[in-house]
This record gives sequence, structure tokens and C-alpha cells, in this order.
Amino acid sequence: MQTLKNKIHQEGNVLSDNVLKVDSFLNHQIDPQLMKEIGEEFAERFQDAGITKILTIESSGIAPATMTGLVLGVPVLFARKRKSLTLSDNLYTASVYSYTKDETNDISVSKDFIQPSDIVLVIDDFLANGQAALGLIEIIKQAGASLAGVGIVIEKGFQPGGKQIRDRGIRVESLANIASLENGQVEFFKEVHA
Ligand code: 5GP
Repeated sequence: MQTLKNKIHQEGNVLSDNVLKVDSFLNHQIDPQLMKEIGEEFAERFQDAGITKILTIESSGIAPATMTGLVLGVPVLFARKRKSLTLSDNLYTASVYSYTKDETNDISVSKDFIQPSDIVLVIDDFLANGQAALGLIEIIKQAGASLAGVGIVIEKGFQPGGKQIRDRGIRVESLANIASLENGQVEFFKEVHA
């Protein structure tokens, strides 16, 4: 998606060979126009998948997931990283290890909001080692629902998550796929991968 790649080139900060900071439009401040275009792009790519629900994880997945849900006309559910006092035991949970933060979070979703009849699209901001996406996929499995695929705003294709998930036969669509962050430069894979 060219507008997204341009934005990453203009405003992304390469913090290290592994980490890209995009706080000006995705992870802190949000660019609503770009999120709208991202939602339209995901909706187009998954339009024939029969999706009934979108599942993401707080907080940075919520904006792109919501715009996708708006276009597809389906509800958007986000997994919580901490147990809320108002959430009861009525939960599906999965453990997600974060390499960037070196911590494990139990993510949870109320059983009230995913049914076995649901066809679920997973959306997240980044795909790196795949732990967040695999946690969401695990929750869909626990619910007995179907997985339509995974939509990722920025994949870091030089890290193993994308391959690991695709190797399970799961459809992964990323809107920008980074081949390298070396020497402070963002290099994308050619469009066929992105
Ligand atoms: P994974 O579970 O695939 O290793 O990482 C996914 C999560 O880690 C994303 O939801 C995102 O919050 C965070 N993350 C991983 N790599 C990056 C990165 O390079 N930049 C930013 N801003 N977040 C990242």
C-alpha cells in the first residue's frame, strides 16, 4: 500500500535494526485519514471471506481494526492485556510474550463476544515474532470460531512471525512488508510480498 509506505519513509524512526517507531500516525498519535484507507484496503482484501467479527489487541490494533470493521459492517473486539475488574471469569485467555518489552501478558476476551458461528479476521499494527497474532488465533480456537486470516499494517518480514503463521496455512495480508531496517534505513520487500 503505497500511501502507507510513503508515510513510513517520511515519519518512521528506525530505533535499531529490529525496531521501527511510528508514533506520529499509528502507535501514539493516529492519522485518521490513513486509518480510513487502511480499513478500506483490508476490507477489500478480505471482502469475500464472510467475516462476521474482527479481533485485535489493545491498544494500537484498535484504530485500524475499527476502520476495517466500519467498512465491512461488523463488530470489532479487542483483547485486553490486563484483567479488568469488570471482566469476570467468563474469559478466553492466552499468554503472549513480547520480545520488545521482554514480558509476558495474559490477554483475554469475554466469552460473550465470540461464538462458534463467527468467522473472525485478526488485525494488528505490527507483525514481528508472531506472538500477539498467535495469541489471538489461540483465543479464536478456544471459542470454536473460524479464522478468516490475519491483516497486519506493518510486517517486519525479516523476523519469523509471518512465515510461522503462513506455514500453518493461515492467510496473512500485510499492507507494508519491511525487508530490512539496517543502517537506519527502511527497505520494503517488492509489492508482490507486501
Ligand atoms: P510480535 O508478537 O509479532 O513479536 O509483535 C507484535 C507486537 O509487538 C505488535 O503488536 C507491536 O505492539 C509490537 N512491535 C513489534 N515490533 C515492533 C516495532 O518494530 N515497532 C513497534 N512500534 N511495535 C512493535
